[in-house]
Amino acid sequence: MSTASDTLSESTPAPAPPPSDLLDRLVSLGKQRGFFYQSSEIYGGINALYDYGPLGTRVRRNIRNRWWRSTVELRDDVEGIETSIIMNPQVWVASGHVAGFSDPLVDCTGSCRRRWRADHLPAERAARGRAPDAPGCPECGGDLTEPRQFNLMFRTFLGPVEDTSAQAYLRPETAQGMFVDFKSVLTSSRQRVPFGIAQNGKSFRNEISPGNSIFRTREFEQMEMEFFCEPGTDDHWFDYWRAERFRWYVEELGVRSSRLRLRDHEPDELAHYAKAATDVEYLYPFGWGELEGIANRTDFDLTAHQTASGVDLTYLDPVSGRRYIPYVVEPAAGVDRIMLTVLIDAYDEEEVRGERRVVMRMHPDVAPVQVAVLPLSKKEELTGPARELEHRLRPHFATEYDETQSIGRRYRRQDEIGTPLAVTFDFDSLEDHAVTIRERDGMTQVRVPVEGLEGALRDELARFRERTAARARGGSAG
Ligand code: ATP
Repeated sequence: MSTASDTLSESTPAPAPPPSDLLDRLVSLGKQRGFFYQSSEIYGGINALYDYGPLGTRVRRNIRNRWWRSTVELRDDVEGIETSIIMNPQVWVASGHVAGFSDPLVDCTGSCRRRWRADHLPAERAARGRAPDAPGCPECGGDLTEPRQFNLMFRTFLGPVEDTSAQAYLRPETAQGMFVDFKSVLTSSRQRVPFGIAQNGKSFRNEISPGNSIFRTREFEQMEMEFFCEPGTDDHWFDYWRAERFRWYVEELGVRSSRLRLRDHEPDELAHYAKAATDVEYLYPFGWGELEGIANRTDFDLTAHQTASGVDLTYLDPVSGRRYIPYVVEPAAGVDRIMLTVLIDAYDEEEVRGERRVVMRMHPDVAPVQVAVLPLSKKEELTGPARELEHRLRPHFATEYDETQSIGRRYRRQDEIGTPLAVTFDFDSLEDHAVTIRERDGMTQVRVPVEGLEGALRDELARFRERTAARARGGSAG
């Protein structure tokens, strides 16, 4: 994780961070409403592993789908694939992960005995109100051991014999699947360089200091794309993807730009394979943190796999006749981190008629429910037609039907989970064949005929999208 530093900011005045206790509030809302919670909770949980409940699962699917749609489906020059989590272990030797995918680990020899990532010490001290460059343990001030390298890859064995010849790894990134399959995709698709290969799926890292809820976990989901281009054009593509990925968060997820920035890596911070790297960072309650990394990986990976496998991974340009190993620009994001970011960014509390209202101002295409259908009361004469209406809307929107509790409490629940629109079926609806659409942010209500309801909801959602993107661009606290 890249921590607070202020090299480059795309937004002008210093933004206000979310309140420092927001993460705690979200964790409790997340559990109560079914967004996310500790894995294996009935056994006391397990450190840095999480499950996603019914609503969290919907949000994650929405995030993934929006990424897939804009990165793969809406483009001519990107192919999507899915590769296996366990690969030939030679892949990880060639890529440098076996020798070098490690973080520096230090142990506290004082009273708390905690274990830290050496490069995270300044931020961990700052988070506990200590001077970032103070000596000793961030927690108790005790002495620290010298850093030693700790490899983050999880090991396992293939087959029944647990010896080194059967040793394999759970992938720590999805990227290597795309490099190893470069030739197969090239020959089986009609792509020519420049083009990209994308995939999304689980990755595993035995993180030394996981934390901040789902920000840093040991099992997480990545969305990565390797964009292969001719050497010499790589700076252009790096700039292109850097801008495109920033745009995506603002325009397509509605994350406010005032809490986002692009931070270029200093030369001494660059990974050994990278010519340039930029992080899309978000201002979390615990400070600036990496949301996505964009790197110019040069021809490092393809060259390494060509050398190790003996398979020719060069590309012959059919027009120029030039043969070369393509350079690669990689935008790499994490679904879990994006979900946390979306929830933090959307969370709002306000006072309505003397009562506290929690409202998630989520983008309508990310929210777990787009349209809630609520009969005014539990009376059969209302619940029957309201259920029918919800069934009618189901093919067109992400819907939910709810008849429990008072209508006021049901509105509050929908606000808390970010539902942009609620349709209320009341006693008048039986006579005038109209329903009320209530909108989340301003709580305004309009009466519309049941007959044209799909169209009216579509128009309302379109206005919502526009408002969300305008808020995200303008960065108003909303
Ligand atoms: P860090 O420096 O924070 O350890 P990184 O720079 O090694 O992370 P990348 O390898 O660039 O991270 O991974 C790309 C993206 O995958 C990150 O921007 C993040 O969104 C996600 N990611 C990486 N590690 C984790 C993790 N342990 N838990 C959740 N998401 C992660």
